[in-house]
Amino acid sequence: MTEKNEEKLKFSAEISKVLQLMIHSLYTNRDIFLRELISNASDACDKLRYEAITHPELTQGDSDFKIAIAVDKERRTIIIHDNGIGMGREELISNLGTIAKSGTQEFVSKITGDSKKDMPLIGQFGVGFYSSFMVADKVTVVSTKAGSDESWQWESEGTGEFTVEGPLPSKVKKQHPDVVFSTFEPPPQAGEGIKRGTSVILHLKPDQDEYLDTFRLRHIITTYSDHISFPITMTDGAAEPQTVNTASALWMRPKSELTPEQYKEFYHHVAHAPDEPWLTLHYKAEGKVQYTCLLFIPTLKPFDLFHPDRKRRVKLYVRRVFITEENVDIVPHYLRFLRGVIDSEDLPLNISRETLQHNPQLAKIKEAVVKRVLAELKKKGSINPLSREAAQDSAQANASQDVTDDYNTFWENFGSVLKEGLCEAASPREPLLEVCRFYSTAGDGFTTLDAYISRLKEGQQNIFYLTGERIEALRASPQLEGFAKKGIEVLLLADHVDDFWTNVVYNYKGKQFKSVTRADIDLSAIAGEGKAEDKTEAKTDTDAQVLELCQRIKTILGGSVKDVRATGKLTNSAVCLAVEEGAMDFRLERFLVEQKQLAAASAKILEINPQHAIIRSLAAKLADVEAAKDIEDIAWLLFDQARIVEGEEIGDPAAFTRRLQGFVEKSLAA
Ligand code: ADP
Ligand code: MG
Repeated sequence: MTEKNEEKLKFSAEISKVLQLMIHSLYTNRDIFLRELISNASDACDKLRYEAITHPELTQGDSDFKIAIAVDKERRTIIIHDNGIGMGREELISNLGTIAKSGTQEFVSKITGDSKKDMPLIGQFGVGFYSSFMVADKVTVVSTKAGSDESWQWESEGTGEFTVEGPLPSKVKKQHPDVVFSTFEPPPQAGEGIKRGTSVILHLKPDQDEYLDTFRLRHIITTYSDHISFPITMTDGAAEPQTVNTASALWMRPKSELTPEQYKEFYHHVAHAPDEPWLTLHYKAEGKVQYTCLLFIPTLKPFDLFHPDRKRRVKLYVRRVFITEENVDIVPHYLRFLRGVIDSEDLPLNISRETLQHNPQLAKIKEAVVKRVLAELKKKGSINPLSREAAQDSAQANASQDVTDDYNTFWENFGSVLKEGLCEAASPREPLLEVCRFYSTAGDGFTTLDAYISRLKEGQQNIFYLTGERIEALRASPQLEGFAKKGIEVLLLADHVDDFWTNVVYNYKGKQFKSVTRADIDLSAIAGEGKAEDKTEAKTDTDAQVLELCQRIKTILGGSVKDVRATGKLTNSAVCLAVEEGAMDFRLERFLVEQKQLAAASAKILEINPQHAIIRSLAAKLADVEAAKDIEDIAWLLFDQARIVEGEEIGDPAAFTRRLQGFVEKSLAA
């Protein structure tokens, strides 16, 4: 190389912010930089091992994957080297500088600049490669992509810019004469001595000498990276490299040999997440389909759970060889919070990622895994949250309460994702519903459907629910009044997905789901707590005056309503809206109109409460010709009021205001 072939590039804005946070890091646990770099090295080896199944020439002469760590006390550097897939120029630029991984945007938007507040954020978000700037003031990455004979160098001090240089076979050798390439023997066919893989060279900050101590590094590796399935070696000056980790696939080891710490570290690696696993599920299936499964559910909600380009993060291995973790349908979308590894004994090794999609063996594994995960969730949540008092005197009262609270955390994080499964035809609905939690009118906390069913009133055939934007608003809805009077429990559903699954799931254990907004609900058949009033409710339906009033209001409102009917559903309110059985519920319809999937909202049924003072006085005035204008205005006001309560648009806000103002003026003048 004669000319210096170097390009200066800028980090993307998000990455710059992450870097600033790293450089000024007061983060107490700096040790994790090594775990992150080893984790990347291991991923790179996994990727190449997969590529080599179809392109064996890529690893020819050097098929033993390894990760080598070398310390150079004189130069004050640590080098993390792997003979994995490597990166070319474009990859160095995008992977280490311009393309932020999903969730980075959200992470960055939460950075306040106040390091005390920001540090815990790092703990919630894996920052990967950039964590090297916690200990280094300059990082050099030299990489040679498998199959290429060009080396490229990336370098940065972490302040806004990085350089990319190459191709530079000879130069690298000059800059890093002994360490980079002495760790491995060069393969015979690479005449120039170019090795594939990546070396990350950390030039330590002046106060980070502790990381030059190989005992210290060994300790970090055994603490955080023992589970890495490739050997990790350490060299200190002239000494022979020594393997530091166990270097076997952790998921193949018997449960009894593994400690919670080891599971946790493996989780950090496989999930790229820094929290604790909320659930660890490790088992070997030895029936018709044979596979080993080590899956985790995170404690914290991952940033990209609802991100459009989120990835499913369960890695597929075939007999210990990593195949893929993207675009493979090994866990359903509604379990996309699962992290971990599934290792099949039966799938062919040279299966291509494309044909995997339609592999019947894989479909069987998926089905079995879903079943197992749901069973495990059922076990975790098996204590009924509304019967806590009952558990209180038992010896395990405390323990069981913990389990319950624990499940609620899970539910708050992932409940709305899990409920997406209810909309999928292929998902096992009953087991899914069994592990679902719902807010209800029976208390402040969550309930299960089984607990709801145990509280059914005599004669009650339905599981009643009400959907809407917020739980608190739902609790105040007039739709619930008649149910509350009779002590009939109603589920309160405020997740968007609730609008959808309630349209496709009809029943649970023989009880039909029914929205309380349905016009055909007759509560008189259900034995309630306020029995005395039941008869009057039934009678008012036939009240001739009320029927006449309904007719009159219907004439006034014309095409704006579908019908006007008396209901026994209300107590304090005069009116509410309802829809026919089989019609779309309010919120779903609004959503589809917003999305332009429906041209316009349909006309609703206006239900009136024959017991209400306003309705009674209106009915009494029907014959009074002079009152005709008032009746008309009141009919519109009541209808608009019902629409407002339901969050529907009112047709003519100006007319509404004019009418309301008229009545206010009248009442002030009186
Ligand atoms: P993550 O590992 O979560 O993707 P990182 O910040 O740790 O994020 O790494 C960013 C990307 O850089 C990786 O996804 C990978 O494509 C690339 N990379 C990092 N280290 C290596 C390496 N040793 N070999 C090959 N590619 C690497
Ligand atoms: Mg990483």
